[in-house]
Order: sequence, then structure tokens, then C-alpha cells
Amino acid sequence: MPKSVTLPNGELVPALGQGTWYMGESAAGRAGEVAALRAGLDLGLTLVDTAEMYADGGAEEVVGEAMAGRRDEVFVVSKVFPHNASRAGVQAACERSLKRLRTDRIDLYLLHWRGSHPLAETIAGFEALQRAGKIRLWGVSNFDTSDMEDLQKAGGGACATNQVLYNVSRRGPEFDLFPFLARAGIPAMAYSPIEQARLPRSGALGAVAKKYAVDPFHVALAWVMRRPDVIAIPKASRISHVEANARARALVLDAEDLAAIDRDFPAPRRKVALEMI
Ligand code: NAP
Repeated sequence: MPKSVTLPNGELVPALGQGTWYMGESAAGRAGEVAALRAGLDLGLTLVDTAEMYADGGAEEVVGEAMAGRRDEVFVVSKVFPHNASRAGVQAACERSLKRLRTDRIDLYLLHWRGSHPLAETIAGFEALQRAGKIRLWGVSNFDTSDMEDLQKAGGGACATNQVLYNVSRRGPEFDLFPFLARAGIPAMAYSPIEQARLPRSGALGAVAKKYAVDPFHVALAWVMRRPDVIAIPKASRISHVEANARARALVLDAEDLAAIDRDFPAPRRKVALEMI
């Protein structure tokens, strides 16, 4: 049984999902992207992350095509631009996303990053969408600890996740953000979990990979998934990459592996402002 993560409402979602940034950019790539997402669904990577921003809605269209005929298998995450995050703007943006996704509901709808609209307004928009059955849950993205505090003060107790940049080379959230989220019972979603394929294949990642006869990126994904409260959403347009990532679920790192990774990628010893990619 692949690992799952529990959302604040008690619902389980897979600990490994699929990202879609840069999908939907070209007509030529579309069939391959749809096939990759569908291969991922077949392998249980049923949490799919997208956003109105990606390819100006093109990525949501790819997700819509990939979900055709199998909507109920998928846990769809999409995101609203901060400039659309007024109470009315959130609702209009969601309607556009639903059309592109060819569905009647988004499972989890996120504020992509904090903008100038008051958080209370965005929350009111999300709650209206929930009442209308157009989104099931809502959350945020790129929120640092102080933003999460502000969100709670603005009445955001129902936030279901905070999607942030997290991988071996971006460990800042471990210092204070993840402990804050854990106290609030909110799981994190790790974006760019293999640093957009730029992580080094040598050093600790290479050595641990050699020990288990796997790819260094498997080790990087397994490292993100070692936490019970983090969902990893690597993006892969190639089926071979999707299959490789799915295999990473079987890899469990031991204390020696984690210590080796810590030597190359030390845990933060002080507050680091949340990074964005
Ligand atoms: P990523 O998942 O770390 O890396 C994606 C890159 O890695 C692609 O070039 C992909 O190639 C390649 N890749 C995937 N699996 C591989 C494997 N097994 N071996 C070798 N290469 C592999 O980076 P990301 O796309 O930035 O992040 C993942 C998702 O997080 C995004 O797609 C998006 O949904 C979300 N995200 C959210 C935010 C936010 O602000 N909330 C920001 C960034 C990303 P191919 O595509 O050619 O297969």
C-alpha cells in the first residue's frame, strides 16, 4: 500500500503526486503530457497539482484531458493568482479553472502566493466556493510562518495545506514553518522536490543511490517522503520519469543514509526566509 498523508479533515491523499508546471505550453507536447499524467494515475499518483498560472490555463486543460472518464480517481489541486484573490475574483477564477479542467469541483484550491487582497476576503471567497460545492478544501502556497500566523488571525483555521519549495537543498522550512504546521495539524506539500532536476547526482545522493542500486533522484524523493506530514509533487512529462518517480515510494532511507545526506545538505540552524522558485 503506497504511503499516504492525512489532511486536517481526516482524508488520506497519496504522499507522492504529480506536478504540471510547464505542461500545456505547446500543442506538440500535449499528447505526451496527457499520457504521462494518465500513466501516473495508473501507478497511484492520483494527486495532481496544477494552477491557473501554468501555461495561462494550458496545464489545467491537459489535466482535464488526462482526467477524462476517470475524474473520481483524481484529487485535483489548483491555484488562484494573488491578483484574482478578492472575494469575487476567487469565484470567477475558479469558474474558469473548472471549465478548463472539465470538472464540477476542485478538491483543493490554493492561494498561489500572498498578494495584496486581505486574507479574510480570500477566505470568504473560498468558503463561498465550498458552500457551492465547487471546491472541497482550500489552502495556501508559499506562506512563511508569519503569513500562516496572519492567516490564522484572519479566520483561516480550515486551511488544508501550505505548498512550499522543499527538497534536500532547500531545507529552510524545517526550522520553524514545519513545526508550526505540525502544531496546527496542517500537512505541507513539497514543490520542486528534485529542484527541477538540478540536484547533484554525486556526493551523498549518489552514494546512497549506489547502495540501493537506484537513481539519485529516487533518494531525493524518498528523503522528502520520509516525513509523515509532507506530500511530494514531482513533475514529469516523460512516462519513464513518472515510472521512476513511482518506484521511489518503495525506498526507505535508514539513519546512516539520512546522516550522509545531512552532511551534504545540513539542516537549518536558524530561521531562513521561505524561498520561492
Ligand atoms: P521538479 O518536480 O523538482 O522537477 C521537474 C523536472 O524534473 C522536469 O524537468 C522533469 O522532466 C524532471 N524529472 C522528473 N522526474 C525525473 C526523473 N525521475 N529523472 C530525471 N528527471 C526527472 O520541479 P517543478 O516542476 O518545479 O515542481 C513540481 C511541481 O510543483 C510543479 O510542476 C508544480 O505543479 C508545483 N510547483 C508549485 C509552485 C508554487 O509556487 N506553488 C512552484 C513550483 C512548482 P520531464 O518533465 O521531462 O519528465
